[in-house]
Amino acid sequence: MLLQDKYEAVIGLEVHAQLLTNSKAFCSCSTKFGLPPNSNVCPICLGMPGTLPVLNKKVVEFAIKLGLATHCKIRDYSIFARKNYFYPDLPKGYQISQYEEPICYDGYVEIELRDGKRKKIRLRRIHMEEDAGKSIHDQDVDTLIDINRCGVPLLEIVTEPDISTPEEAALYLTKIRQLVQYLDICDGNMEEGSLRCDANVSVRLKGEKKLGTKTEVKNMNSIKNVEKALEYEINRQIQILENGGTIVQETLLWDAGAGVVRPMRSKEEAHDYRYFPEPDLVPVVVTQEWINQIRETLPELPEEKRDRFMVQYGLPKYDAEILTSSKELANYYEECVKFTSDFKSASNWVMVEVLKIINEKQIDITNFKVKPEYLAKLINLINEGKINQTTAKKVLEEISETGEEPESLIERKGLIQISDEKFIEDAVLKVLENNRENVERYFAGKDKLFGYFVGEVMKLTKGKANPKLVNEILKRKLEEMKVSS
Ligand code: ADP
Ligand code: MG
Ligand code: ZN
Repeated sequence: MLLQDKYEAVIGLEVHAQLLTNSKAFCSCSTKFGLPPNSNVCPICLGMPGTLPVLNKKVVEFAIKLGLATHCKIRDYSIFARKNYFYPDLPKGYQISQYEEPICYDGYVEIELRDGKRKKIRLRRIHMEEDAGKSIHDQDVDTLIDINRCGVPLLEIVTEPDISTPEEAALYLTKIRQLVQYLDICDGNMEEGSLRCDANVSVRLKGEKKLGTKTEVKNMNSIKNVEKALEYEINRQIQILENGGTIVQETLLWDAGAGVVRPMRSKEEAHDYRYFPEPDLVPVVVTQEWINQIRETLPELPEEKRDRFMVQYGLPKYDAEILTSSKELANYYEECVKFTSDFKSASNWVMVEVLKIINEKQIDITNFKVKPEYLAKLINLINEGKINQTTAKKVLEEISETGEEPESLIERKGLIQISDEKFIEDAVLKVLENNRENVERYFAGKDKLFGYFVGEVMKLTKGKANPKLVNEILKRKLEEMKVSS
């Protein structure tokens, strides 16, 4: 029996999302990133004695937004707690967080598995807290501390241990990232740390009810890395159990370069933090009226948008899913189809060619230079028979550098497709004449050569011949030759 069939993994994720508020959670310092170290601080976030924090209302609003989007219950009365620990980048000696009664609880996020089945990942809680600062380990100098990030608001999103495979973990994270981006509450950037994930994982014999001892893996700065780290860690645990060992509860760091996890610290128990109610902050009271107001401001969420795309534009689910993977891409598509009625072609062009170019350029769709209207124009020109696909791809690539209007470029470069039958016929005859041997082989059964002839005609006409006509005429001419030979 394969070890993978003998054991199953149990995974629970804790995600920290850095909020896109203008100011910090409990003071009026800005959340701006990249300022000179320790310049973006005040007595409150520096942790000076005698200062008083004041909660930023936006933080609560953002928490409720995410709570509503993930089917959570919203607590009408919740409090903050102090999570006490000593760390050089935490001058206060404690972090303001929520403990026993988080603002949102009992929600879920739905993921779609590869076989099309949907699975609910239950959310245990979403709570508000503040970030700590940053230690910078500079070998030449010393350990340096930057307090700027202290007090930047975070939401911590904690799942039940409902995730069964690294792939499901990746699907879940993709969903969360998509949600926070749609809601405009976090930029979702894992590489830059505005979305961070700690993965709790254990293994057990299949069919076993009791959970195994878990480890917690940190320090993964991409969804791919979360997947890899989990695969590694699941295997490591299975090997230990197979060899008769026991799993030690500990915190591990993923070393992406080496592709292994390394021990960070053995796990402190929750009570090590000596949580107690934060005495400097009043309880957070959320009225039903406020919740309703926030609900009204919720944007169209990814799944609603996907379903609407399927109905409104008659797109397959696959297309709608990709096009709505980000709000910006969806906007680009919707802008494009204002200028063409060929919804499916527009979808193909956005999904394939546009995404290819922006991936190559490593840019965002919002920085893509081709206006949606211009892409629509290209599609219309193809449909009108004025240019062919190959030309259109070349034009798209070129205008993605310059942002130029495509029609003027096509005229300037003489790229208009030639649909003149006489012209194409001449080209076809020339190609067949220059390829006598291949024509013989074609008649002898090498059908694949047809494609080669088409290619030669296109080459001869500098890619400008209408491919549909080339096919037709080539077929006709070959038939005629066969009959007369
Ligand atoms: P801790 O106190 O160590 O943070 P929690 O009980 O608060 O642990 O759970 C943290 C996360 O770990 C949650 O997402 C939870 O679903 C997950 N989790 C808890 N127990 C296990 C386990 N045995 N195996 C895998 N994940 C677990
Ligand atoms: Mg934990
Ligand atoms: Zn401050």
